[in-house]
Amino acid sequence: MKIQLLPSNIDGDGRATPEQHLTCFVIDDCVAVDAGSIAIALTSDQRHKVRDIIVTHSHMDHIATLPIFVDDLYATLKEPIRIHATQEIIDALERDVFNWNVYPRFSRLRNDYGPVMEYIPMCVREEFTVAHLRVTAISVDHIVPTVGLIVSDEKTTVAFSSDTAETVEFWDAINRAPRIDALMIESSFPNSMTHLARDARQLTPATLAKEPEKLSRNDLEIMAVHIKPAYRSKVVNELQSLGIPNLSVMEPGRIYSW
Ligand SMILES: [Zn+2]
Repeated sequence: MKIQLLPSNIDGDGRATPEQHLTCFVIDDCVAVDAGSIAIALTSDQRHKVRDIIVTHSHMDHIATLPIFVDDLYATLKEPIRIHATQEIIDALERDVFNWNVYPRFSRLRNDYGPVMEYIPMCVREEFTVAHLRVTAISVDHIVPTVGLIVSDEKTTVAFSSDTAETVEFWDAINRAPRIDALMIESSFPNSMTHLARDARQLTPATLAKEPEKLSRNDLEIMAVHIKPAYRSKVVNELQSLGIPNLSVMEPGRIYSW
């Protein structure tokens, strides 16, 4: 399985930098997890292949360029963009984004070939299929309805925490999985901002450090993501000083394979 966290920041010379403003992972060049930077950072090959997008929650940094992605492909789509999400998240997208005011209601529009965007509701704790992947969504603890994901192909299983504070059910599901190769876990704020992290229902390096203690396994690679760009160097230093051997910081743009 090949996973890339798409870049979402460019420097003055137009080069991608490690700061992560938006969240969008691409699995095997064809399935996206969240859509923050989907319209601006895919390769042209990926742009032709990605037709399934799993949305973990409705926050802007996870869906920012989803409307632009559908818009860009509108005339050429020969199959719809499929949005996999819980009904609560679908309702939020229809009410707050694809509402004719912020952007067109693409779920009602067709091009010459048929519908351009469709929702595929998913239920938490029930495995479903997306392209060649088996996916299970588990509710996590954020300030809006949010799911973490466990994603498997024939050989590899990875997990995405999405945005969450300390949580329980997600770790229980990971403990039950036959294998987990990698975990992408959020680490939004530095330790000095614990109060804000608590209010926003997110993690700091100090609170992140306690989450793997809920795991009954240590055979997985853990990668920190979703570090607020304004505090990136501080958070990275704090993560490194935890001394957790299988923990690293995921680099946007790099292709990881398991
Ligand atoms: Zn969020």
